[in-house]
Amino acid sequence: MNFKNVTVAGSGVLGYQIAFQTAFHGFKVSVYDINDDVLNHAKAKFSELSACYKRDINATQEQLDNTFNNLSYHSNLAEAVQDADLVIEAVPEDVAIKTEFYKQLSQVAPAKTVFATNTSTLLPSQFRDLTGRPEKFLALHFANIIWVNNMAEIMGHEQTDKHVFDDLVQFAKAIGMVALPIYKEQPGHLLNSMLVPFLISALDLWIKEVSEPETIDKAWMKSFGSPKGPFAILDIIGINTVYNVAKLNADTNPLMVPLMQKLEVEFINPGHLGMPSGKGFYNYPNPAYESANFLK
Ligand code: NAD
Repeated sequence: MNFKNVTVAGSGVLGYQIAFQTAFHGFKVSVYDINDDVLNHAKAKFSELSACYKRDINATQEQLDNTFNNLSYHSNLAEAVQDADLVIEAVPEDVAIKTEFYKQLSQVAPAKTVFATNTSTLLPSQFRDLTGRPEKFLALHFANIIWVNNMAEIMGHEQTDKHVFDDLVQFAKAIGMVALPIYKEQPGHLLNSMLVPFLISALDLWIKEVSEPETIDKAWMKSFGSPKGPFAILDIIGINTVYNVAKLNADTNPLMVPLMQKLEVEFINPGHLGMPSGKGFYNYPNPAYESANFLK
């Protein structure tokens, strides 16, 4: 793995975390976004991230100074990728935006550059023909709060070169991730392939009033020693996202219609959007499931 220069395209929720984590591990990182205002916002968020890295993984000031020295900012794509060994794409989860991005990127990136997409729900094969280098294109999927939830799923498509795939596994490890290779294209990768049906099963129990969210969570937590049950996880994902996913699947899954109605009345309308808003299935900070008495 000879990667030195990495470009992260998109500096939103995940992109700025990927950029910072990569720079923290010694790579030169060009942060690319659509304009300088967005980039300035990302710079401000990097300062907040520094405090998190100190608190959560005992990062030293010297490590953080080096991280900032490794970061540069660009709103011109050709400039951002001119010497990139790897471009990690974290632009919005929108087929039209990603399509346009890969069309532009393929025109300006050097032939050597490997492209990796952080998409959560789309497949690399949807975009490979736009990249001009299908053998150097694959998915590298991170989890939110990357410095703590440090895993990366690596998934190619049928034409991805085996050496490129192996390089990405090495790269993921080099930036402090637990690397999770996936050998067949799979919507949802590993984690979401398991998580989504699990969460839908829990929501089904709630909608049918089989039991209450806290009781359903307790069944899971007590049996497996798990720190969180499905409703705590739904709060972390955010009720807005849960609602949007339900809406997307309403045509194919009949459960989604009553789910949307219940979420609207009990959560969306009163503004209870999960952990980010301070209230969802639980109240934050200090949700009940973290209390010592919850499972007694
Ligand atoms: P986001 O909306 O927070 O950020 C997207 C960023 O891309 C914004 O800064 C936006 O200005 C920028 N952008 C828009 N158009 C662009 C373009 N043409 N070129 C470059 N930048 C552009 O989105 P996000 O949540 O960070 O998600 C980004 C990707 O990461 C998606 O594919 C998503 O599925 C994936 N992902 C998200 C999460 C999550 O928890 N949010 C987790 C894993 C993977």
